[in-house]
Parts: sequence; C-alpha cells; structure tokens
Amino acid sequence: MKENIQNPVYFVGAGPGDPELITVRGRRLLDQADVVVFAGSLVNPVLLKGLRAEIHDSSGMDLDRVIQVMSGAQQQGKKVVRLHTGDPSIYGAIREQMKRLNGLGIPYCVVPGVTSAAASAASIKRELTCPGISQTVIFTRRAGRTPVPRGEEIKALSQHQATMCIFLSIAMIEELAEELISGGYPPRTPVAVVEKASWPDEKIIEGTIEDIASRVKAAGIKKTAMIMVGRVLSMEGGRDSNLYHPEFHHGYRKARD
Ligand code: SAH
Repeated sequence: MKENIQNPVYFVGAGPGDPELITVRGRRLLDQADVVVFAGSLVNPVLLKGLRAEIHDSSGMDLDRVIQVMSGAQQQGKKVVRLHTGDPSIYGAIREQMKRLNGLGIPYCVVPGVTSAAASAASIKRELTCPGISQTVIFTRRAGRTPVPRGEEIKALSQHQATMCIFLSIAMIEELAEELISGGYPPRTPVAVVEKASWPDEKIIEGTIEDIASRVKAAGIKKTAMIMVGRVLSMEGGRDSNLYHPEFHHGYRKARD
C-alpha cells in the first residue's frame, strides 16, 4: 500500500455487516483513526465500538459537510477514515467525494471491502459462475429514483441470462420479476433474496422468478436485501471446472496419464 503519501484520507469498505468481515487493514485504520465518518444505517455500529476517534454519521450530512469534516481534519494532520458499507466501489458514492478531494489537493486511498453480493452468495452457499451455465455476473439495480442509462434496463440485461446481483431494488420486486421474465429469463429461473446478509437477523428467501415477489412480501422484506438471479443458483446441471479436472493440465499441475 502507498503509505508514503502524506496522511491520506482512507475510504474503507466496512463489509456487509458482520464485524469480522472487514479487512485486517480496514480494522487497523479504524483503530488508529482520529476522525471516522461512517455511512449511516448500513454500517454495523459494533465496528465503531471502543474507537478513540471522533465519530460522525454521514446519513444526516450533505456532501459539502462530509468534505468539510474530512478535509478540515486531514489538514490538521488528523487520521481520517470514511467508512462505507460493503465495498466502496459499488454504489458507494465515493466518486463525488474523491473529485472534491482532488480539487482540494487532499490525498486519499481506498481499502476494499466484502460486498454484500459476495456475502449473500456465501450465505446461500452458491458459486455465481459455473461452466456451461453462466460465466458472467451482472451487478445492477432497477431504475428507481436514480434512473439507469439506456440499455441497462433490467429487461435489456435479462437477454444475457447471466447471473445477476441486483442491489437497491427489493421494494420493487414485483416489477423487477415481470421485467426479468419479459426480458428473457424463463419464469422458473431460481432467485435468492438475502436480507441483511451476515447480520445476526439475516433472512434468506429462495424461489423462482414467478413466485419470488409473493415470498418476499410474505416474509415482510422491504429493504437492505440482495436479489440474486440465475440458473447457476440451482445445484443441477452445468459442468465441473477444468481447473481440477484430471485430464486438464495448467501451469501448476500436470494432467494425469
Ligand atoms: N457498497 C455496498 C452496496 C451499497 S448500496 C456493497 O458493496 O454491498 C445498498 C444496497 O446494497 C442495499 O439496498 C442492498 O441491496 C445491498 N446491501 C447492502 N448490505 C447488504 C446486506 N448486508 N445484505 C444484503 N444486501 C445488502
């Protein structure tokens, strides 16, 4: 890591919720921080317990205020951590913060985190790719208050029938299911919804595109949920990978005769 840069602001991925799912580096930076600005409701407060830092909850702050707090502290030589849920590179809104810091000439680094997509796959114990089924994972969202660019509508993405991890869309599960089907997925394609993956009150709902909306409604799931779609979620079909195949050799292993 480029620790030689003068006192950077650290954007740190907090992981999906379980405090053991932050990186070792992220944990160390939090422990050493003088100021922590954390992203409200989705960051587990357990991560902040016992910190010596001054702590700010960004959910009640606008961008100007966040930048003011971070840049003010950094300029006083304080160690600043900006803590984001999951991995900061996905729906993290760090781009706008980094642009402001660029403008102010303030250095920063990004420490990755475990995205809720990976945590949800772990919770349901599935691999999101499988030879012969899907070799592509799409991270997306349904258009809501934030529109999506042309060509990125759920319907358009569905034609690939790849594995999808759909963020920020659980409140629109009915419309979403309709679009997945009209876009090209067979109605019986498996879907898993994981609410609060890795938290103590995690909930898992499994079904198919045609029945997932009613299952989600019945379970009362309204927010903080990952929707995963794709034939890959079924443990049937597909092929074993070449990686461990006895007749396949690669740089690290010779094929069996
Ligand atoms: N940067 C985050 C995503 C932030 S957007 C990440 O990498 O995970 C917020 C959305 O992420 C939520 O609407 C939900 O779809 C998903 N999400 C975040 N935490 C989650 C969790 N613990 N379980 C399931 N979904 C989660």
